Amino acid sequence: MAQAHPSLFTHGSGADPAPVGSQRVPVLLPMPFAGPFDYKAPASMALQPGDIVSVPLGNRRETGVVWDTHNTLPPDLARPPSGKTVADNRLRSVAERLELPPLNAELRQFVDWVAAYTLSPPGMVLAMTLRLHMKGSTPTPATGWIVQPPPAELRLTPARQKVLALMADGVARTTTDIASAAGVSAGVVKGLADAGALRTILLEPERPFAQPDPLHHPPVLEGAQKEAATALRQSVNARCFSVTLLEGVTGSGKTEIYLEAIAACLEQGQQALVLLPEIALSAQWMDRFTRRFGVRPAVWHSEIGQKARRLTWLGAADGSARVVVGARSALFLPFCNPGLIIVDEEHESLFKQEEGVIYNARDMAVLRGRLAGFPVVVVSATPSLETLANAEAGRYQRLVLPTRHGGASLPQTHLLDMRAAPPPRGLFLSPQLVEDIASTLAREEQAMLFLNRRGYAPLTLCRTCGHRMECPHCTAWLVEHRNRHVLSCHYCDHTEPMPAVCPTCKSEDSLTAIGPGIERITEEARQLFPDARILVMSSDTLGGPAATAEAVAKIARREVDLIIGTQIVAKGWHFPHLTLVGIVDADLGLGGADLRAGERTIQLLHQVAGRAGRASTPGRVVLQSYTPEHPVMQALLSGDFDQFMEQEAEQRRPGFWPPYGRLAALIISADTPQAADEAAAQFGRTAPYGEGIQVLGPAPAPLAILRGRHRRRLLLRTWRSIAVQPILHRWLGLVQVSRHVRVEVDVDPVSFL
Ligand code: ADP
Ligand code: ZN
Ligand code: ZN
Repeated sequence: MAQAHPSLFTHGSGADPAPVGSQRVPVLLPMPFAGPFDYKAPASMALQPGDIVSVPLGNRRETGVVWDTHNTLPPDLARPPSGKTVADNRLRSVAERLELPPLNAELRQFVDWVAAYTLSPPGMVLAMTLRLHMKGSTPTPATGWIVQPPPAELRLTPARQKVLALMADGVARTTTDIASAAGVSAGVVKGLADAGALRTILLEPERPFAQPDPLHHPPVLEGAQKEAATALRQSVNARCFSVTLLEGVTGSGKTEIYLEAIAACLEQGQQALVLLPEIALSAQWMDRFTRRFGVRPAVWHSEIGQKARRLTWLGAADGSARVVVGARSALFLPFCNPGLIIVDEEHESLFKQEEGVIYNARDMAVLRGRLAGFPVVVVSATPSLETLANAEAGRYQRLVLPTRHGGASLPQTHLLDMRAAPPPRGLFLSPQLVEDIASTLAREEQAMLFLNRRGYAPLTLCRTCGHRMECPHCTAWLVEHRNRHVLSCHYCDHTEPMPAVCPTCKSEDSLTAIGPGIERITEEARQLFPDARILVMSSDTLGGPAATAEAVAKIARREVDLIIGTQIVAKGWHFPHLTLVGIVDADLGLGGADLRAGERTIQLLHQVAGRAGRASTPGRVVLQSYTPEHPVMQALLSGDFDQFMEQEAEQRRPGFWPPYGRLAALIISADTPQAADEAAAQFGRTAPYGEGIQVLGPAPAPLAILRGRHRRRLLLRTWRSIAVQPILHRWLGLVQVSRHVRVEVDVDPVSFL
């Protein structure tokens, strides 16, 4: 953690009287300090908690937020006090208050709680609210021009006359607008201004967000859909905290129904936030929203530009953005009047941020709703065991849509035992699947092949000496990308040209591709179906949201026969002509030591399968598996997820695995294996113990080397009734690691790599 200048560092200030005529205020900076620093401000500035200010730090200026003198953390989450109070006469002064809407008390409390829950410095959580889009700058309101009586001696050129004629209506316009409307250069406008014929005025701040109309195009609802929509509307109208699980098979109308909850929220004049796991892929979602409400929602994700970011931020803060749809980081927007959060695909591990502040946006959405007193709706066809357990325990309300809308049937599932009917040597599609694809294409319907693996082959091996091509910086094989003639690591940025000879034994032509990636499946499909129009969907072939939207539109327009894709194809797309889905390697996610491997595989494969048969023609799903007896395969075959999840629950309950117990991981990394081992051993020696508390490890992480850093893991497991945060605080306090060693804390880990 970075060290503060000692004279700046205080904690829990406010006890000392401020000097006469000035105010002493804690200011939280978006940086990894342990807490706010005290500053002084002239009483005339009248700063309040939440005000966004500019303050000196070292010889820089930083943007921060006036914080609360006392936080409201529950005892479990409270931090041990640290630091000391700075004397009044050594305090530095707040430079200015920025012209931005202040952060309200609920958001400040939320920042404090998230920081405490995840054991992150509060400034790093604040940074997610502030940093990206503010950068210390105040948005300057646009200035425009209006006419004023011209001075008598004004020289009237034809160009100037055109401008004056345009501006005679008295409407304020920007320089750019005038220049283009009058067909003159910007210099003409400036000349007229200098001559005194135009004067500048501040334009109304931009209001880019049209207001969604809840009555624009409501759906006709019946049966379970109607009941669910009514229940959700009631939760929203109650204006208090609740969590509802909205569950239903793919195509049952979950989106349609939660849009009703948003309508209710709009009717109450409140703001709604929709969190999607991957907003960059959501073109179809935007269209749905627009059809329902007449306008597009405000958007928030990492790929929108600076300007859009700032507008959404301000729109959230001043209430003009009524509905925001975003990726997990949208959770930290400063909504002034939030009334609802929807977490769509709540089971998705993409809601977990794995770097910086390690948090789960689904869980923190529930926290935000609880602190601010509004409902949260979590949505999934295959809810996580965590959410199911919460529903079971009565903490969450559960609404179920049992059938597909409009009588569409769920796809039929077939398991292909690859041991009994293997594909020809060196190929990956079994004869049965090939036949299914052929007949689907013959009926002029669409087929899809799914394999969650980018590139050509996951492993390149020398047939002569057995050498495996590995990343020099990670414990990982290099993945061949044949299109680009490179080997690349999927864990770091390392990429190298495909070597002509084996780097070890120098044999020529001995390097062999082992196993398939989607490039290889595409090659196979091209040979089998030379006339089919094939579209490959992966992050390598689709350069961004626009390309993805175009690919999806092509599929909907029926300009594609066979889609081959990675998990991108699993997102909630509606492909009306798709009737066959082939899962190339259904066993793929089941290896490894991941607690949730089975659950995760079911969720992903069910989601992929759900793309098939969404319109009138029934769909068919073919699973290629070498372990057809595996409970995951059997559950996919029967479609009985409830039973599968009950089995999962029975397996996790006795060992207090989540959700029946709590986990926190410590990931220790260092430049050398010795340093990593030494630090890990120290944590091992000081490990907490007691009834209901257990520590597993230290052990090398499965990704033992990542980006050149050697990684060790320890796992703290406790009973559900025992909070991990105080235990972690005590534990971290017992170990002094050198500054080359990094210790990451991951509360409620999702990844075990
Ligand atoms: P899910 O989110 O559960 O996958 P969707 O909300 O996407 O389901 O609904 C599947 C399809 O059925 C969509 O095209 C949707 O517009 C349509 N649909 C669902 N419910 C209705 C309804 N009540 N009226 C009209 N269309 C509906
Ligand atoms: Zn070799
Ligand atoms: Zn690497």
